[in-house]
Amino acid sequence: MDAPAAHRMSSESDFAVIGGGLIGRLIAWRLAGAGARVALYERGDAQGRESAAWVAAAMLAPLAEAASAELLITELGAASLDAWPALLAQLPRPVFFQRNGTLVVWHPSDRAESTMFTSRLRVNAPASLLQGGLVALSGAALDEAEPVLGGRFQQGFLLPDEGQLDNRQVLEALAEGLVARGVETHWHTELDDARIEALPARYRIDCRGLGAKPAWNGLRGIRGEVARVHAPGVGLRRPVRLLHPRYPLYIAPKEHDRYVIGATEIEGEDMSPISVRSSLELLSAAFSIHPGFGEARILELSTQCRPTLPDHRPRIRRVGDRVMRVNGLYRHGFMLAPEVSRLAVDCALAQASGACADADAFEYWAAGTRWPSLFASDAPQGQTA
Ligand SMILES: Cc1cc2nc3c(=O)[nH]c(=O)nc-3n(C[C@H](O)[C@H](O)[C@H](O)COP(=O)(O)OP(=O)(O)OC[C@H]3O[C@@H](n4cnc5c(N)ncnc54)[C@H](O)[C@@H]3O)c2cc1C
Repeated sequence: MDAPAAHRMSSESDFAVIGGGLIGRLIAWRLAGAGARVALYERGDAQGRESAAWVAAAMLAPLAEAASAELLITELGAASLDAWPALLAQLPRPVFFQRNGTLVVWHPSDRAESTMFTSRLRVNAPASLLQGGLVALSGAALDEAEPVLGGRFQQGFLLPDEGQLDNRQVLEALAEGLVARGVETHWHTELDDARIEALPARYRIDCRGLGAKPAWNGLRGIRGEVARVHAPGVGLRRPVRLLHPRYPLYIAPKEHDRYVIGATEIEGEDMSPISVRSSLELLSAAFSIHPGFGEARILELSTQCRPTLPDHRPRIRRVGDRVMRVNGLYRHGFMLAPEVSRLAVDCALAQASGACADADAFEYWAAGTRWPSLFASDAPQGQTA
């Protein structure tokens, strides 16, 4: 922190973080914990209602996600999952965190989906996650794993190491953590590129999620829709995923009999309310898993768009000497946030100390990290990912 410390007497922040959803909040909080003077600018409120993070199911399921995600994401997710407990322990208020596994089930007519699921996992997940991490269950063993589903499914997989947390509690605890660490917070402050440039800070870290689209070619939104319900008659112990050719679904049980049921993946940045079709599909599929969902009360039907880059990887991008952008967390923001924010903070501090003074030094620095492919520097032509 040598270089930022020299500015301690000025009114300038060391770092301005723009976008206080998941990754911006976490980066601001971690930078402040490292002794930096930080200001955070967020267009929405302290609760984070404008963010994708507000709507997310917050499952931490690197192995289950290997059904569609590459090895890099799986490994990054596994390292992040291990890092969450220590990170949460530093927050000023408790956050619901569970590491009780994921259950994957399917209806007998969809058996082919389970074959596809396991073959993708074997390709995309490291052997270390697969060993003991994918347990085939049938009959009584399946009923024992999730008693409330007793007799409903003949076969399934338990992925015992996976986790989940409460997304809104994380956002709330981080908002409190920012205050506790002296971060200057500017809620309800929407900034465009010109205003970002004019901020009184030595470095700017753009974490606007999909809001950074004007500044990042190739960044796009993938719409997701979820239902939040209160279902005291169900009692699931862990997130359940239903493999289905047309209506794949997850149900993530949170505290106090609340469930997040999701989620569609629709190309586009339409933030309009959920369609009748999607709500029928989500709720019918949930009802097919457990009839107790028939008596559930719908608390919310929500939509948001996941900020996504063409290769579906997150990226930490150096843009000149004074700007860094962190984006592209797609459907894995919570699953990857501990590692991505740690790397982004290390990178920001390295820039501040002069260790990444130019693009070559930055690339050399990034090459020495565990995941160099997450880093990028300004492309000569624009900023394609
Ligand atoms: C339906 C759904 C389900 C999901 N489920 C999961 C899951 O189970 N597990 C998982 O790991 N991930 C999940 N995700 C993904 C996760 O929510 C995202 O990856 C994560 O929120 C991305 O974090 P972010 O901080 O980059 O973006 P966001 O969380 O969207 O935060 C960006 C912030 O920037 C602010 N902003 C934008 N423009 C401006 C501006 N001009 N000025 C100031 N502020 C601005 C926004 O208001 C917002 O608060 C899900 C997402 C969705 C939509």
